[in-house]
Amino acid sequence: MKTFADLGVESKIINGIEELGFSKPMPVQEAVIPHLLAINPRDLITLAQTGTGKTAAFGIPLIQNSKGKPKFVKHLILSPTRELCLQIADDLRDFSKFKDEVKITAVFGGSSIDKQILNLKNGAHIVVATPGRLVDLQNRGKIDLSKIETVVLDEADEMLNMGFREELDEIIKNTPKERTTLLFSATMPNEVLEISKRYLKNPEEITIGGRNVGAENVSHEVVLVHARDRYLALKRIVDFHPEIYGIVFCRTRNETQDIAEKLIKDSYNADSLHGDLSQAQRNAVMNKFRIKHLKLLVATDVAARGLDVDDLTHVINYNLPDELEIYTHRSGRTGRAGKFGSSIVISNLREKNKISDIEKQLGKKFKFTEVPSGKEICTKQLFHLIDRMEKVTVDHTQIDSFLPEITKKLEWLDREELIKKFVSLEFNRFLDYYKNLPDLGKPDKKDRSKRREQFDGDMTRFFINLGKKDNLKPTDIIGIIKDNLSFKEIGIGDIDIKETFSFFEIESDYQEELLKNVNTKNFRSRKISLEVASKRKNDRQSSGSRNRNPRNENRFSKRKKSGKDSESQFKPAKRKLRRKK
Ligand code: AMP
Repeated sequence: MKTFADLGVESKIINGIEELGFSKPMPVQEAVIPHLLAINPRDLITLAQTGTGKTAAFGIPLIQNSKGKPKFVKHLILSPTRELCLQIADDLRDFSKFKDEVKITAVFGGSSIDKQILNLKNGAHIVVATPGRLVDLQNRGKIDLSKIETVVLDEADEMLNMGFREELDEIIKNTPKERTTLLFSATMPNEVLEISKRYLKNPEEITIGGRNVGAENVSHEVVLVHARDRYLALKRIVDFHPEIYGIVFCRTRNETQDIAEKLIKDSYNADSLHGDLSQAQRNAVMNKFRIKHLKLLVATDVAARGLDVDDLTHVINYNLPDELEIYTHRSGRTGRAGKFGSSIVISNLREKNKISDIEKQLGKKFKFTEVPSGKEICTKQLFHLIDRMEKVTVDHTQIDSFLPEITKKLEWLDREELIKKFVSLEFNRFLDYYKNLPDLGKPDKKDRSKRREQFDGDMTRFFINLGKKDNLKPTDIIGIIKDNLSFKEIGIGDIDIKETFSFFEIESDYQEELLKNVNTKNFRSRKISLEVASKRKNDRQSSGSRNRNPRNENRFSKRKKSGKDSESQFKPAKRKLRRKK
């Protein structure tokens, strides 16, 4: 086993990282540190999840390579979010604690640009930046990238997911051709491969923990439920794990808020984290979660990105994400630092195909489990309570003086009665809740066809004037639907995103409300235009209104030319998981 000194790390930095408790290098550090400390290092692609120690892997050599007065920015680290940016800068300052000549500056959106400009003016060896803010600074002529030696693209897949592709192009083109570029990513979808080809020269490739493989210590479980029972299933899963400390991932801000509010109302120690919160509110929630004042954080994928928590017991997927890579990111948030974690998916039968796609990508099988029954939950909670009681430390100096009076008061109770009463005190909440509740049944194929009959009888297909050109994703459509309806748990059918327009289906009962609310809204500053394309009845061929609108007629006759498209048009309510290869 190598030491940091064996990797060539200088003693001042070793002193800094030892104070943080880093006694030996992690695998990604063993691979990256000597590589980057070499003279003229080659470009490098590293496939590594967060939690593998990658910040120190690139941070330590960059610090060691930062010498003298900082006349120019020498090393640039790009990261997707403000939180991650701050975290990296903080980590780097910790590593360089005993090497105080190293100047590190973080620049990111949502914070005063003037202060950041001043910091840059005062000189920095290393700049940690979010792409948007860096382009802004570039445009104002406040940062000079012409002497950059190293560019680190951290969480490259996330940066692309967040739509920073143009900003990355803009930044990279202003850096010298002779730079060393390092790309870190948890997954390697096509978009990342494509930028790696353009930004990196003849890169070496390192994979930590296997390509696209979820963390080793994570179990992947699916709980199959009816869509309408999702929330009840979530509560049961949480109740079945009394020590849970986890993130519940939702797809939209509204859903996140909605689920968190329900959990809080039902007395769970939960809160929400999403983009509608101010930065101060987000910080407050993240802090409460970090120090475990909250045991459940209901979050959107984007908002949860900046959160660095190593000891989550569970990740709960309230809905499956539309992109495979996002599942890898979500599940990789648990099972870190040698601990074991579970990633649980609450799913309905219609999503089974997505599950097998994820299994293929992960190279791991999901365990299909059922929602715990009321009896199972009560048993688990009861024994948890008894365990806690057995382990509790009794403070004799405080308690003993009250004991004679307490003993006298409880004299009339025998031992058995006494135990029952103490246990009930804590436990009645669960007993009361579960005693008359039926178990949540697993949906079977019969249920599915019954439900589909309902859906098929009353699904409306909409045309929307947004498509791939607008960078529209299925999650955006779901967001538009949910943001504009008072009732959220509605049936959503096929979503079909074309180049300049798209189709989607929802239960017809909500047609009017959706039309009324959406047609006044914008999507990324483009006015949304929504119209009914067709209504789908039980007999799928009898979609009478489908071709009445001449625009639709054209559209469909064009679609029919392609066998694939015309087939997908008549497909029952089922959305495909977008898979990046
Ligand atoms: P990262 O992947 O950079 O987010 O790091 C994940 C966690 O591992 C952070 O909490 C680091 O402080 C910690 N860490 C990084 N390197 C080491 C090391 N060599 N020994 C122990 N902990 C480490």
